[in-house]
Amino acid sequence: MVSTSGPIQLPADHAPSSGAMVDPFGRAITYLRVSVTDRCDFRCVYCMAEDMTFLPKRDLLTLEELERLCTVFIDKGVRKLRLTGGEPLVRRGVMQLIERLGDHVKAGRLDELTLTTNGSQLHRFAADLVAAGVRRINVSLDTLDADKFAKITRWGRLPQVLNGIEAARSAGLAIKINAVALKQVNEHEIESMLEWAHGEGYDFTLIETMPLGEVDEDRTDQYLPLSTVRARLEERFTLTDIAYKTGGPARYVEVAETGGRLGFITPMTHNFCESCNRVRLTCTGTLFMCLGQEDAADLRAPLRASEGNELVSAAIDEAIGRKPKGHDFVIGRNAAPSVSRHMSTTGG
Ligand code: SAM
Ligand code: SF4
Repeated sequence: MVSTSGPIQLPADHAPSSGAMVDPFGRAITYLRVSVTDRCDFRCVYCMAEDMTFLPKRDLLTLEELERLCTVFIDKGVRKLRLTGGEPLVRRGVMQLIERLGDHVKAGRLDELTLTTNGSQLHRFAADLVAAGVRRINVSLDTLDADKFAKITRWGRLPQVLNGIEAARSAGLAIKINAVALKQVNEHEIESMLEWAHGEGYDFTLIETMPLGEVDEDRTDQYLPLSTVRARLEERFTLTDIAYKTGGPARYVEVAETGGRLGFITPMTHNFCESCNRVRLTCTGTLFMCLGQEDAADLRAPLRASEGNELVSAAIDEAIGRKPKGHDFVIGRNAAPSVSRHMSTTGG
């Protein structure tokens, strides 16, 4: 179990600035992740059951409402915005939202607009993303073996994703490859993926599986602690901790042999909650103050109740005032998921 007790140490770059949203533990909220849809064209085994029930379309915020909510957050001090899902690029008309949000980057009101994608639609959207002001993207890719890829994603096809990544690079996007470390699935491929990613000029980040939502498999069989992965990598590579940060939870090392950066996202083995600067908005307008807790605030009702933003702004302040100190993820045989909703609902 990850402990969340003990005093919070605030890193210098998370010190609250005046006028910002600040939670009860003194953490300034400057990073908003928005799940623009819970739907996806893949069914990754650790993320979704194959037979998922998605939200009825009538419950979704329109793209205009999502943009209005994002703008309220930007007005309240958010500087970095990540679109995610489900698969963000399968929501119809999503480019319209991305273009409008990109205007905030161009006007200097937002430092970064980025997205996390499975890469399946990048061949269609890469150039438009760059034109809209997106500079960096995260692409989730757990294996370079086509058969394994089809098994992990159930519905995905590797060549389509590799074409998409290539299109993104050609369009000028900086790319980070994110891989979930999965016991017996990709654990022996991590070294070759690292060499491939760095050889192509991409950052590479490993993620521990988190107990979110019911999936068809036992998570104890999937979970691979990154402390084990790091120890194995250190038998072959020289890893040096570096201070590099992208505003997210990854801790980075430089790999001497490849000259590239390797990130570790370790919600299970090393809690990163003390420096948490983010909140998550779903496509129904629900605000989750922590990925690993059930508490949430409804922003759709106050958004729709008035044409002005006072009500929704007050609801956001009230929600930030309830942001918990951290998560308590547990993975064990027969353990229920720590939170019942899937990663695709809250957005990874
Ligand atoms: N569909 C997009 C994608 O796959 O990049 C964006 C949404 S997906 C939910 C975001 C990230 O969450 C992906 O990198 C995925 O591998 C990761 N993810 C999903 N379920 C997870 C889980 N239970 N534990 C850890 N990471 C998970
Ligand atoms: Fe879809 Fe991303 Fe979940 Fe895979 S991890 S099922 S691509 S939302």
